[in-house]
Amino acid sequence: MRINARYKASKPMRAYIPAYDLRVPGSLSEALALMAREPGVWQPFAGGTDLMVLLEAGKLSHKKFLSVSRLDDLRGIEVSADSVILGALTTYTEIQKHPVLRAEFPLLCTAARETGSIATQNRGTLGGNIVNASPAADSPPALLVYDAEIELVSERGARWLPYHGFHTGYKKMQSSPDELLRAVRLPRRAAPWRQYYRKVGTRKRQAMAKGSFAGAALMDNGTSRDIRIALGSVAPLVLRAVITEDSLRGGRITPTVIATAGETLAREIVPIDDIRSTARYRLRVAQNLLEEFLSQISK
Ligand SMILES: Cc1cc2nc3c(=O)[nH]c(=O)nc-3n(C[C@H](O)[C@H](O)[C@H](O)COP(=O)(O)OP(=O)(O)OC[C@H]3O[C@@H](n4cnc5c(N)ncnc54)[C@H](O)[C@@H]3O)c2cc1C
Repeated sequence: MRINARYKASKPMRAYIPAYDLRVPGSLSEALALMAREPGVWQPFAGGTDLMVLLEAGKLSHKKFLSVSRLDDLRGIEVSADSVILGALTTYTEIQKHPVLRAEFPLLCTAARETGSIATQNRGTLGGNIVNASPAADSPPALLVYDAEIELVSERGARWLPYHGFHTGYKKMQSSPDELLRAVRLPRRAAPWRQYYRKVGTRKRQAMAKGSFAGAALMDNGTSRDIRIALGSVAPLVLRAVITEDSLRGGRITPTVIATAGETLAREIVPIDDIRSTARYRLRVAQNLLEEFLSQISK
């Protein structure tokens, strides 16, 4: 008792747990009913790897949470002839182990391998990474390059929408407070594409990105028939560099083209100075990664 009192006096508790409410619905319909009854009141809680950091720091202002971890409708990886559908609760470890994802979607597997530690990979989910909406998140550049679609569900029904455009600004997205992210769909046409992913952080492992880059190109004798480029940590949201892509699509990838593409990219991205890095460094990293990607696909 005395130890507790002394501890409290010297180090105030960062979060007062009884102030929080956590419900654990056993079915999707039960979860959606709760969210429909009080939209925005019940915030989904999946692996908790983002939310628990806020709790520990005393910055978790939201008080009511809805655990989605027992919802089987949000689990599993389903493979069909033309797509792979990953439940929102798919963890980074599950992504890395899946044979079809390893063979056809290596950018997503590499992003999963580069996310946090093994503990974070065992617990953190793809759905949580998307909805947490960090511009430095690792899986979104891969999802953008693969033209992923996402499924949102509510009591009003289900809707699929392209992942590109889902985020509209810093931590802003096109979902309603009564909607849950249920799944992510990847069209199975990436296999013949040349693919590239690289994350640059302070350390080789367990670092948030100062810059990340995912690229894929469909090459035909040195000419890019199609090309996709996405970057993290260079704008308020993970960005698909569509202007740079347009400037490269259909042309030969020569040293002059690579240099011009770097200038186009500089006009398209909006890196900032923050605690992790500077805008100048981020711009240089983005241009270097673009150059490395284009040099690789030109060979
Ligand atoms: C030590 C550490 C290292 C990390 N390293 C990285 C890293 O290298 N790269 C990286 O990208 N991230 C990293 N993260 C962040 C985090 O692990 C990921 O963003 C993870 O994918 C979050 O998933 P989660 O299930 O834990 O989300 P949660 O913490 O449960 O939730 C995150 C957000 O998503 C919402 N949410 C979750 N699931 C759903 C759903 N189905 N529908 C609607 N909303 C939902 C929650 O309400 C919350 O707003 C790290 C975290 C830690 C603690």
